[in-house]
Amino acid sequence: MAKFFIPDYYTDDLLKVDWLQLRERGISHVFLDVDNTLEEHGAKKAGRRTKEVCRSLEEAGLSFAILSNAKRERAEEFCAPYNLPYVGQAAKPLTYQVKRYLNTHKLSPREVLLAGDQIFTDLWCGRFLGAPVLLVEPLGGKEKGFLRFKRYLEKILCIFGQNPAKAETAPRI
Ligand SMILES: [Mg+2]
Repeated sequence: MAKFFIPDYYTDDLLKVDWLQLRERGISHVFLDVDNTLEEHGAKKAGRRTKEVCRSLEEAGLSFAILSNAKRERAEEFCAPYNLPYVGQAAKPLTYQVKRYLNTHKLSPREVLLAGDQIFTDLWCGRFLGAPVLLVEPLGGKEKGFLRFKRYLEKILCIFGQNPAKAETAPRI
């Protein structure tokens, strides 16, 4: 049960991740969440931070794609500056969109990693898919409505000892 609340890896900063180490563990492709993972919540376009993360993934020999629940148009707009591959309206934690991508690119769940900031969205999507998950400390930015409610639930989980930061860190090179 704990695996639904504790990710495989945890980092407080995506820029610190040792992607080479993850590659040595059999990862060949990384799905990146946008809001509060690559950029602050609601960011319109990919910025320097996203570029830096994608560059370090490429250097480690990993392929990647943006996997966002944002509407397809917004995901497209976000990815346009660097022409990044993306799956918009991903419907995480459901897996049908990500499975379609895996089939098209001949990838198996075990060789992909999902990186994101939310337990009930990113972590659960990885769990339902059977793929490892790197949970990222949220970057910040205004969150509202249902997302704020989910953050509240995440805090309650920590009170019951299900602190995601207990997961293995993905240390820097
Ligand atoms: Mg997010």
